[in-house]
Amino acid sequence: MAGHDDTTLSPATRLVTSGRSPTADVVNPAVYRASTHLYPDCASLRQRTSENRDGRYFYGRRGGPTQWALAEALTALEPGAAGTVLYPSGVAAIAGALLAVLRPGDVLLVTDNAYDPTRSMALGLLQRFGMEARFFDPLDVESFADAFCEKTRAVMLESPGSLSMEVCDIPALAAIAREKGAVSLIDNTWATSLGFRALEHGCDIVIQALTKHVGGHSDLLMGSCTAGEAWYRRLRITSQELGHVVSPDDAALALRGLRSMQLRLNHSTASALAIAEWLEARPEIAHVLCPMLPGSPGHDLWRRDFESGCGLFAFVLAGRDDAARCRLIDALRLFGIGYSWGGFESLALPVDIGAVRQTMAWPREGWREDDRHAIRLSIGLEDPQDLIADLDRALAAMDA
Ligand SMILES: *Cc1c(COP(=O)(O)O)cnc(C)c1O
Repeated sequence: MAGHDDTTLSPATRLVTSGRSPTADVVNPAVYRASTHLYPDCASLRQRTSENRDGRYFYGRRGGPTQWALAEALTALEPGAAGTVLYPSGVAAIAGALLAVLRPGDVLLVTDNAYDPTRSMALGLLQRFGMEARFFDPLDVESFADAFCEKTRAVMLESPGSLSMEVCDIPALAAIAREKGAVSLIDNTWATSLGFRALEHGCDIVIQALTKHVGGHSDLLMGSCTAGEAWYRRLRITSQELGHVVSPDDAALALRGLRSMQLRLNHSTASALAIAEWLEARPEIAHVLCPMLPGSPGHDLWRRDFESGCGLFAFVLAGRDDAARCRLIDALRLFGIGYSWGGFESLALPVDIGAVRQTMAWPREGWREDDRHAIRLSIGLEDPQDLIADLDRALAAMDA
């Protein structure tokens, strides 16, 4: 079997082969539950301490074969990567990356449409440790360079942005960050390495909530950071200092999810597009926020930079209030109401975007003032026609 270093293979094929040993007797790695690793003698015990890398037995906190296989598979899927560190959740990965990069006194630039816990972390934890967060509008590339100062150490990017789904010009923003001597980190959970090759597009550290597309079955929480050699070492050391580990059982589940990720993304992308098109034609809907939809904001940049999409998008009701929004969501039968996304099942969530923006307007410029109540949908693996019928029924219930 080809190893992960065979970059002539397409990503779909590497999704199947990566992280697997060419000589293994079984398809999947064993689930090694192990805190203690044993050494044959004192000499090897002393030597092993300094060999701090995946594949070397040391102690459970540095992982074991199951976690290493997952990390290797994720590295293989990210062109330009030297390694991957695993974290107990996506939020832990974000914290692990920011704490690896920042020092007291540093300024962090954060995209204004960042995942909400990223904002809270920047304004809470990081501030308590002496770092300052400043939010910027990622669509305003012109003024981005002006946001930097002597102390700007890093830039936190995310595209499409959380909840409001703006696609920004990552190559342009990352190039400016590099020119200014800052590190760029990107939360690439929406696209995954299959949909957006973040390192190739100029980012330094790629963060993913594996909880979403990689897990894919709403049964695990995990995060990852993937990077080139220099940052990978730093991430690894910091995560060991913080004592981050993931269980071998969860790593095995994540690996299983990973193998079918392309198929699931293809299906949910096609379904989301069909549903977004249907919603766009409805009079109750003012705006569909779905970069995969032709004519939508961000569609051209998405086409230029992304290889694929996924099932997550949002829409804004035309002039309805929060009570109407809740009537719609409560009337849905096939959509669960809940956080997270990227699972096999569809979800709907009311999202109050204006409450979590500093520099980006909500409602957006040019919109009616009462076009503000948004619903986020995560489209799963159901038949899209059933989901459309469910939405149709719920829209009628909203206005009944
Ligand atoms: C869910 C999510 C995370 C956090 O992942 P958890 O595993 O829930 O901590 C990070 N970023 C984005 C964009 C997410 O949607």
